[in-house]
Amino acid sequence: MNFYVMTLFPEMVEQGMQTSIMGRAMKKGLLSLQAVNIRDYTEDKHHKVDDYPYGGGAGMLMQAQPVFRCYEEIIRRVKEGVSDGRDGAEAEPARPRVVYLTPQGERFCQPMARELAKEEHLVFLCGHYEGIDERVLEEIVTDYISIGDYVLTGGELAAMVVMDAVARLAPGVLHNEESADFETFHNDLLEYPQYSRPEVWHGKPVPPVLLSGDHRRVQAWRVEQSKSRTQARRPDLYHRYCQKQFFIQFMIKKGKIQHMDMIESLRRGRGEIVQATEDGVVVRDGEAKVYMLAAFQESKAGEIIQWLGEVEDGWQYVLHQECLLGPLEQRLLSSGKLPYPGFLARKCIMPVYLTVYTQGNARHIRKDLEFQSLGMEFLEEVLGHYHLAGGTYIEERLRSGNLYGAFADGCLAGFAGIHQEGSLGMLEVYKNYRRQGIGQALEAYLINLHLSMGYTPYGMVGVENHASLEMQKKMGLCISRGQAYWVTLGESHNA
Ligand code: SAM
Repeated sequence: MNFYVMTLFPEMVEQGMQTSIMGRAMKKGLLSLQAVNIRDYTEDKHHKVDDYPYGGGAGMLMQAQPVFRCYEEIIRRVKEGVSDGRDGAEAEPARPRVVYLTPQGERFCQPMARELAKEEHLVFLCGHYEGIDERVLEEIVTDYISIGDYVLTGGELAAMVVMDAVARLAPGVLHNEESADFETFHNDLLEYPQYSRPEVWHGKPVPPVLLSGDHRRVQAWRVEQSKSRTQARRPDLYHRYCQKQFFIQFMIKKGKIQHMDMIESLRRGRGEIVQATEDGVVVRDGEAKVYMLAAFQESKAGEIIQWLGEVEDGWQYVLHQECLLGPLEQRLLSSGKLPYPGFLARKCIMPVYLTVYTQGNARHIRKDLEFQSLGMEFLEEVLGHYHLAGGTYIEERLRSGNLYGAFADGCLAGFAGIHQEGSLGMLEVYKNYRRQGIGQALEAYLINLHLSMGYTPYGMVGVENHASLEMQKKMGLCISRGQAYWVTLGESHNA
């Protein structure tokens, strides 16, 4: 992950980020930081970067031109540093996201950190004085982020806050990967109280349950503590948590297997409820850029589609009832996303069944195979074998450590992985290794991985993929009675 900071005080940012975990990650090459001085790009002979605002008013404003030239320099550096690694060809990198830190931005939160952690390059723009000329903001900024409802003198501290929260989610930055998964804000709950040695301090003993060695009781105690602490300290979060729990139960009643992706998305703390009533539920997973929709009243399908916010480019929609397809097509047509009526049916709908492992017990794992998370060095090989998802998607899955290989006698025999929104998939067994149970072994490995994280493993299988459906049945997975529909307007990754 590469950070670029446009600032008037580069040394402040560099020094602030050099210590502790961030410093260690930079030394290891997991992170890079370039703080670029906007003042170096002014055309003013006195190196001035600010001027009076038109129309009068207090204070000075940072001018557009030095900021823009500094931005161009960063884009040049991004391009220079990026090649696609294939055929020795230089790839044109996508324009990086440019975050302007401003008290007028969207309030920074953990889901935003998770979303930003997916980016390879992130540019931060730090303002000073009264801010920055609006025209350059309009041209270069993609995200406006505030770190809270107060006004700082400059954007550097805010940029460091955001970089710290984002960087610790990048693979490998924290030593214990789990610690970023189950902590405060995960699933709208604050973390439970924690204790370390000694057992009694200032006359206060550690709660006895934590010494019991009974993992289940410890877990139950922690959940209760998290709930009561959240209720007391953050009633707003607790309200959201309760709302989610209510709709999880509601969807279980309406069809547990059919809606397992929505249920798990909420349970795992990934998805947010956009809107939910007894007529339907819309869940948004901002990190995976997926909307999941359920309609429990056919007549309300049109209304439910209106709950989607802006119809955004690059998003996917999982519709759990067929009645949602027509209204979605209407909505996409009227927002200019589709060229003609019927386009959706012809091009971008993939009907799938949900497959869910409900048993809870771990699967047997074969001893003659070795399983490991695949690194970027496998990119070409994976792309050579797997064509159901685009290259950038596979690259991201490898980079984030979500593709796993099965090795027979040290040779890669196949792979499978976890999709961005949490389903299991991308299963591929190499030709010479087929019909030897390697697909099942890979699936068993991933099922166990998800069980160990407290998840219910699930997948989505194309309705025509009879071989895969047969295998899932054999392994004891439940298959939804109804179909769901993946609607993909950009690059597909739903297999
Ligand atoms: N006049 C601006 C306004 O009222 O919106 C405030 C400018 S502030 C004094 C100077 C710079 O500090 C801003 O351009 C921004 O980069 C940064 N800043 C101030 N408060 C911030 C906050 N809460 N979150 C993120 N950045 C902030």
